[in-house]
Amino acid sequence: MTFDIRNIRKSFEGTEVLKDVSMEIGTGEFVALLGPSGSGKTTLLNIVAGLQHPDSGTLSLDGEDITRLSAGARHFGMVFQSYALFRHMSVAENIGFGLKVMPRGSRPSRRQIAARVEELLEMIELPGLGERYPAQLSGGQRQRVAMARALAINPRLLLMDEPFSALDAQVRQSLRASVRDLQQKIGVAAILVTHDRAEAWALADRIAVMGEGRILQYDRPERLREAPASEAVRVLAADAS
Ligand code: ADP
Repeated sequence: MTFDIRNIRKSFEGTEVLKDVSMEIGTGEFVALLGPSGSGKTTLLNIVAGLQHPDSGTLSLDGEDITRLSAGARHFGMVFQSYALFRHMSVAENIGFGLKVMPRGSRPSRRQIAARVEELLEMIELPGLGERYPAQLSGGQRQRVAMARALAINPRLLLMDEPFSALDAQVRQSLRASVRDLQQKIGVAAILVTHDRAEAWALADRIAVMGEGRILQYDRPERLREAPASEAVRVLAADAS
């Protein structure tokens, strides 16, 4: 799997917030978009998700141009703050939702969906909690369920926008480890948006450091520390734990 983001530009009301952004993501790779608020991280992720459209540039997956494909047709898993769990559905119904709404023909049977949901509940270490409702779970448990819901469809790419930001430090630590573990088990490539350097350093194979609508540097965490391309990256890398 190779996901290629090429020469993406995007303006809002005459202000360019993405200025010729290019990067590529390989099989099973975990990539973090790291940068201060307003640097364009969420806009880039929304464009990858198909929720917003670039003014120019292309997105391609294994050579297939997906720039004009609808969000649903991209078959990506999303863990966004704006995509909270469905409150009126049980945990199991939430996890199985993406499978249940698949087009006839590719949609698994009820038994297959139930088996997949059980398997994911095991993977997120919440076995037996399928009948609960989101309100009966802790914040960290809810985020695990959101992750399971995103992974249930075997997505081609997993997209996460600040998935841990609402959680306290301790829960965030343990969730980090399980997200990385799950992502590796499933073998899906992932893009994480974060403004938390410790999070990017702990999780990512490669980090795209963003500033003012550009990628300042895109490299492995240790390379950002050893060979920062600019003063901004040097300061960021030196302080990251
Ligand atoms: P980040 O995720 O790094 O905080 P964003 O992608 O959310 O950055 O925003 C980048 C810039 O684009 C910001 O200056 C923001 O105000 C602006 N922006 C984002 N979305 C819109 C929009 N829908 N309309 C106008 N400006 C926007």
